[in-house]
Amino acid sequence: MSQSTAVGDPVSSDSAVPREKLEEIYDDIRSHVMFDHELYGCLNCGICTATCPSAHYYDFSPREIVQLLWTENLEAIHDAMQEKIWACAQCYTCAARCPFHNSPGGLIMIMRETAIKHGMQSAKDVLRPFSRVLMKLVATGNQLAPNMITPDAFADWGPNIAKVNAPLNVLRKAIPVPTLHTMDTAWEVNIRTSIELYTIWEATGVLDQLETIDENLFDVISDVMDEKRADYADWLEEQQAD
Ligand code: SF4
Ligand code: SF4
Repeated sequence: MSQSTAVGDPVSSDSAVPREKLEEIYDDIRSHVMFDHELYGCLNCGICTATCPSAHYYDFSPREIVQLLWTENLEAIHDAMQEKIWACAQCYTCAARCPFHNSPGGLIMIMRETAIKHGMQSAKDVLRPFSRVLMKLVATGNQLAPNMITPDAFADWGPNIAKVNAPLNVLRKAIPVPTLHTMDTAWEVNIRTSIELYTIWEATGVLDQLETIDENLFDVISDVMDEKRADYADWLEEQQAD
């Protein structure tokens, strides 16, 4: 294939991906700070796939992904980023078993980060259902809350739902840790901790990635963060006045 050839399925109406774009994506994967720690070589032995839980349920093989990277198959790497990389459960069983000490799960995480950086539709589609989780995390500092565990929300638990159909507000008060005496959040998060978390997200580029993937969600989350920071500034002022 010549350097200027565009890659595309001849029976698909999707636009072809220019060679330059494929190289840009691969360069981003290859230059990731973790790449050389995750890939040392590959025997193509398939031990990773044999032990991978996701490979049992999906059309997905960590061996295949590692081989694509090892052989620098740019077209197939791009293709795998459209769906397959999102099947990984990030359990790292593969990393524990690989005789070459590769981490297929770690390589997939790098590919996911790159998919987000390039605003790929696959990343947008996969991450969209998590917007509610992210909002809760930003607003409260944690994700699941006791008041979310209701029989209606977990109907698929069958008879086991009886285990959560209990007076949680009373039971939580019995826990000898005051920050767990809450129902709206899993535990009470100190506002300063939340502010520190926002600073980490900004410094590490997490918020930039979010803006690439979902601009509306980024705007809403930025507003929540601004409000929390204002609350914190007010609280600090009150402390100094006392
Ligand atoms: S990544 Fe490791 S376990 Fe998987 S095929 Fe290659 S050498 Fe084998
Ligand atoms: S980290 Fe991903 S690729 Fe590795 S075993 Fe787990 S699900 Fe499979």
